Amino acid sequence: MPPRNDLPPVLRAPIPLAPVLSGATFGSAAATLPSLLDGADVRLVTSGRIAIGLALRALGVGKDDIVLVPAYHSPSMVPPAHWCGAEVMFYRVQPDTAPDLAAIAALVERHGSRVKAILATHFFGFVHDLAPLRALCDRHGIGLVEDCAHCFFGTRAGVPAGSTGDYAIGSTMKFFPMYEGGVLASRRHRLAVTLRGAGAGFELKSALNALEAAFAHGRLPVLRAALALPLYVKDRLWQALKARSTPADPATQVATPASALAPTSSDSSFDFDARWTDKRSSWFSRTVLRRASQARIVTLRRRHYLEWQAALAGAPGCRPLFDALPEGVCPWVFPLLADQPQIVAARLLAAGVPMTRFGATLWPGVDAGVCANSIALGQRLIALPCHQALTDPERAWLHATVRAVLADCAAGA
Ligand SMILES: *Cc1c(COP(=O)(O)O)cnc(C)c1O
Repeated sequence: MPPRNDLPPVLRAPIPLAPVLSGATFGSAAATLPSLLDGADVRLVTSGRIAIGLALRALGVGKDDIVLVPAYHSPSMVPPAHWCGAEVMFYRVQPDTAPDLAAIAALVERHGSRVKAILATHFFGFVHDLAPLRALCDRHGIGLVEDCAHCFFGTRAGVPAGSTGDYAIGSTMKFFPMYEGGVLASRRHRLAVTLRGAGAGFELKSALNALEAAFAHGRLPVLRAALALPLYVKDRLWQALKARSTPADPATQVATPASALAPTSSDSSFDFDARWTDKRSSWFSRTVLRRASQARIVTLRRRHYLEWQAALAGAPGCRPLFDALPEGVCPWVFPLLADQPQIVAARLLAAGVPMTRFGATLWPGVDAGVCANSIALGQRLIALPCHQALTDPERAWLHATVRAVLADCAAGA
């Protein structure tokens, strides 16, 4: 495997799993795709899960209602339904993550009018045809929420992702270099959601964390040098502030959690924090979203995805989840199915390859009896980054390293 210390300076810093600030997000390119922000009533909130909660609330989901969620999911999709007071039931998905319409119809048959809303996810950015599901929802008066957390951009057969559901939600952190952000959009209803700013501490933290993420991955070296002193001062202030604002509870001697300057959704947890349901995304995130070149992001992500496809063609012990990249897709990641996922994943992490195993953790109770396809996906899938901020040398190193790890694992080495 190529040694990291012979590499150009940018590669000695860890390779980012998600986009970080760099020129790649800005600038221009020719082709683009419809986005969640197009022609819709839109609210910019602090996470995708908050947007799910608001969408369910707008659909009138309440106590004793049922929300249907794909058995293959991010656990962050479940607590927003509980926040509304609803019960969550999981429906089967196909081996390629498409919703199993017969399974959904059977659940609706069994539970009747208690089923109030259905969440449908375009996993990894691959847009499903939701017309049949829409028709089922219309027949039964069920609300449809399109989960576009992996699909900020996309279209299929002329139908933009996010336009079929009553509401669509997005997770901006997955596509843009920012610390927090989510989108609630609707092309069918006006959004009766009023947001307010979350305060100066949050605004500052949001900007600084995005900058620090870029610095940690070797980006923006000039800015980093210029900001070294202010950031040092900030760290010291932050520590002082934390020490002051988290006194131990006198009764239990247990420190209360630090006052929530930013939502836990930004720290790779699955929690839902209701205090953020009425908060607007930060000025920094909103500015990045406005200034980013959507065309550039779409073009680069598609290019990086196709590079993975070519680089891993014929690699032993694995296959891509999808055979091809359809025209209307802007991928979140490159999903690979490995025959020996445990050892491949361990070796990739040890080598410094950023990756996630989406679906490896499912909501308690979701087992092979509920949906064997979801369990298999969760166990086998390795999601490799294809975001716009990956540099040429980073991608070349990633391709070579992943190929080497797969070959070693297949050879039993
Ligand atoms: C990440 C994710 C969410 C939630 O988005 P956050 O911005 O992390 O709250 C929802 N659905 C899916 C499929 C996701 O992967």
